[in-house]
Amino acid sequence: MALTPLELRPLGNTGLNLSCVGFGASPLGNVFGLVSEADAIATVRQAFSLGINFFDTSPYYGGTLSEKMLGKGLKGLGVPRNEYIVSTKCGRYKEGFDFSAERVTRSIDESLERLQLDYVDILQCHDIEFGSLDQIVTETIPALLKLKEAGKIKFIGITGLPLGIFSYVLDKVPPGTVDVILSYCHHGINDSTLEDLIPYLKSKGVGIISASPLSMGLLTESGPPEWHPASAELKAACQDAAAYCKEKGKNISKLSLQYSLSNKDISTILVGMNSVKQVDENVAAAVEVAAFGKDEKAISEIEEILKPVQNQTWPSGIQQS
Ligand code: NAD
Repeated sequence: MALTPLELRPLGNTGLNLSCVGFGASPLGNVFGLVSEADAIATVRQAFSLGINFFDTSPYYGGTLSEKMLGKGLKGLGVPRNEYIVSTKCGRYKEGFDFSAERVTRSIDESLERLQLDYVDILQCHDIEFGSLDQIVTETIPALLKLKEAGKIKFIGITGLPLGIFSYVLDKVPPGTVDVILSYCHHGINDSTLEDLIPYLKSKGVGIISASPLSMGLLTESGPPEWHPASAELKAACQDAAAYCKEKGKNISKLSLQYSLSNKDISTILVGMNSVKQVDENVAAAVEVAAFGKDEKAISEIEEILKPVQNQTWPSGIQQS
C-alpha cells in the first residue's frame, strides 16, 4: 500500500488533474497475453484504490474487449462518475482506419455503451499518421467538436507515433480546439525525443500524455510481445539492459517508469497493467521516486548500454511528417 498519495498533475488548459501514473487498459484487451475478466476487474479496482484516477482505452484494443473490461471494472468501483477520468479513442478499429465524421460520430456511441458511461472525458483520434492529417483537421476534429457540444465528450485529443504529426495538426486548428496529445514510446530511457516538443506544446496550452514508458514491453525482464515493431537490434539491446539490471538486483521496468515520471511537464505516464501486482509495483515506483528521486547511477548505466540504439524508433503510418 502506498504511504503517500500519487501526485496529481494538471492537463494543459483542461482543468483536469491526472494521477502521474495513468492506467493503460490495452492489456485488458489481451494485447499482451490473456487476462481473465476477474483479474481485469481486480486490476482496475486496485489502481483506483491506490490513487490512479486516469484510465485510457480504445475500441481497437482487443477488438473492443478492453473497453468492455474497463467499463465493468469502473462500474464495479461504485463511486461517483467525477472521481475518475476516462479517455477512449476513435478512427482505429480491428477492421482498419476510418476517420470520417460519420464513423467517429457512431464510434463514440458504441464506446459509451461498452464503457457503460454517459460521457468520456477525452476522445482521441487514434494513430492519425495512418490517415490523412488534412482530413483530421477539416473533418474529424469538427465532428468531435459537435460531440463536445452534445456533452458526449469533454475534451479532444490526437495520438500517434511520429512526433511531427502533432505540430502539423495543432498549427492548422484554432487555438483550444485540440486539448491533449498522446505520444508513446518517445519518453523512456531508450528514446526521449518527446522532450524537444514539450516547449511548443506548453506554448499552445496543450496537455501532454506520454504512454508506454516500458516501450510496449521492450524495457521489461520478460521482453516484448511477438508483434512488437522494434528492430532486432533494439530488442536485443533492451534485453541486454534488462539482464544487466537483474544482475545488479535492479528492475528495468521500475527504473524506466521512474525516468519517465521525472518530467513534470508531462501530466501522466500511461502504463499498461494487467495484474494487481503490476499496479502495486508501478504505484510504489512512483511514490518512491517522488520521495527520493531517480536512481541516476543505474539509469546512466542503462543509457550507456542503450547508446548504440538511442532514439531509434520504427516506421508507423502512411506519412512521417
Ligand atoms: P507499456 O510500455 O506500458 O508496457 C506494457 C507492458 O509492460 C505490458 O506487457 C505490461 O504487462 C508490462 N508491465 C507493466 N507494468 C510492469 C511491471 N511493473 N513490471 C513488468 N512488466 C510490467 O506499453 P503499453 O501498454 O502499450 O502503453 C501503455 C498504455 O498507453 C496503453 O495501454 C494504452 O492505453 C496507451 N497507448 C496508446 C497509444 C496510442 O494511442 N497510439 C499507443 C501506445 C500506448
